[in-house]
Amino acid sequence: MHRSIAVVGGGPGGLFFSALMKARRPDWSVTLFERNRADDAFGFGVVFSDATLEKIAAADSVLTDALREHGTHWDTIDVVAKGEVRSFSGNGMAAIHRKTLLRLLQEKAAGAGVDLRFASQVGRLADLREYDVVVAADGANSRLRSEVGEAALGHAVDEATATFIWFGTDHMFDGLTFLHRRSEHGNFAVHAYPISPDVSTFIVETDAETWAAAGLDEFDVTQPPGPSDERTRAYLTELFAEELDGGQLLTNNSRWGNFRTRSSSTWHAGNVAFLGDAVHTAHFSVGSGTKMAMEDAIALADALDAHGDDDGDAGPAEAFAAYEAAAQPSVRRVQDAAGPSLAWWEHFGEYHEALEPWQFAFHFFSRSIPLRKIRRRDPAFAQAVEEKWRATHGAEPLATPFTIGEQEVPGRLLRRTGAGLAHADGALIDESGVVVVDLDAPGEQPDTAAAAAIVVTGGSARERIRAAERRALASVIPVLLDLPDADDDEAATMVLSGRADAVIVR
Ligand SMILES: Cc1cc2nc3c(=O)[nH]c(=O)nc-3n(C[C@H](O)[C@H](O)[C@H](O)COP(=O)(O)OP(=O)(O)OC[C@H]3O[C@@H](n4cnc5c(N)ncnc54)[C@H](O)[C@@H]3O)c2cc1C
Repeated sequence: MHRSIAVVGGGPGGLFFSALMKARRPDWSVTLFERNRADDAFGFGVVFSDATLEKIAAADSVLTDALREHGTHWDTIDVVAKGEVRSFSGNGMAAIHRKTLLRLLQEKAAGAGVDLRFASQVGRLADLREYDVVVAADGANSRLRSEVGEAALGHAVDEATATFIWFGTDHMFDGLTFLHRRSEHGNFAVHAYPISPDVSTFIVETDAETWAAAGLDEFDVTQPPGPSDERTRAYLTELFAEELDGGQLLTNNSRWGNFRTRSSSTWHAGNVAFLGDAVHTAHFSVGSGTKMAMEDAIALADALDAHGDDDGDAGPAEAFAAYEAAAQPSVRRVQDAAGPSLAWWEHFGEYHEALEPWQFAFHFFSRSIPLRKIRRRDPAFAQAVEEKWRATHGAEPLATPFTIGEQEVPGRLLRRTGAGLAHADGALIDESGVVVVDLDAPGEQPDTAAAAAIVVTGGSARERIRAAERRALASVIPVLLDLPDADDDEAATMVLSGRADAVIVR
């Protein structure tokens, strides 16, 4: 059966889908509509983790070839805080200028015979009546998603409180580098990485209070980028002058914004299939948005190819069901990993203020992976962190004594037994003065001002960890985190990172 497919959106998702589909089914017609001109590209670079590229490489070599020939590669992530640098290696990554990637994908699609129509904005689905399948790859602010109805797609949006702006710079960073600085107004952080021989991406984040205190919120978001960018650019150039080392910040449609995490339970409606940012996003700190859009493209082309000869109208419906079954699980996994990462960036200023640089770096890297994975990637980094702990406390993390009121507890791994709270060696702990903060309890939380220790329980594990660390960072009262399923390594991660003083396991 011959199909005619309209693709709306010439970002990485729409272009890759078109190229793959036309290559598999040369007799089908594939027409791509992109509202911008071929060489307009907003933003600077996209970063990919080497470990996540297999699926895309197996479908087509365009991305891996592009990264090899035009990209930058590195293995180490640097965290710079309070003038100290901590390096964590074993993280193979690559980045490329978005403009370069789009050009190569356009060439690939054109070479396969896709009808590419630039400067062609699709207004409504009715404009595409003549096509039997529509692929909506029209990005995070998808117009087709609005037309179909977000409720029909089970679409949900969660807006981060932190605010970010995307620049480039002609200062060359060696690899992925996180810079942290406190100005008189508050904390700022930068995600920087090289994307070509002469440009690095430079994304800046801050919290809403700092942003307002610095006067960076004084611009009209309805107006095109311009003078307000200049003010931000001047402020950030001065704040990060040492790290930029004479380099300039480059703007490209740079605007302050709040990241929106989008998810959708259904990725199709009628003859329309959605892919990429139109149906899901994940915080840019996990560098996976382009990868997800390109993997969706593979799954959709596979499904349409496999079901393309089905009779009648059942074709797209079955293909779309197969597409969702293939693509949704890995997107969910990325979004699950992005959640803790975004949450970290919501509070980075607090961690920067409270923690020593070695512990701050470990806190950052352990936001989504435990100590054993960190050790596997970079044994020297893990060892340095453990040595710092030993030098400060004189013992291994879980074997470090602490006090609850007058009593000394010999270590940081505790158990809840029938007889009460006990140290892992079995000795019961006197719980007088221990106040329980139960996140599931309705109403006000108990007063902990005079507590000898605080137990944080209830809620989800993520909520509990966040509630525990807030208290652990802000007070000297020991905070005991209820984490029933944690193994020794996860418990050690909590203690070593300062998220809790001790962990209560099952
Ligand atoms: C600050 C920031 C940093 C990021 N960093 C990374 C990173 O390091 N690594 C990574 O993998 N991802 C990153 N991402 C995410 C990545 O940019 C997106 O996930 C990815 O571009 C999604 O691809 P897409 O094809 O779904 O949509 P898009 O790239 O958004 O493409 C959609 C296209 O549709 C076009 N369009 C929209 N409406 C219409 C219409 N009505 N008619 C015609 N054309 C239309 C648009 O012009 C656009 O070209 C980052 C995102 C942000 C915000």
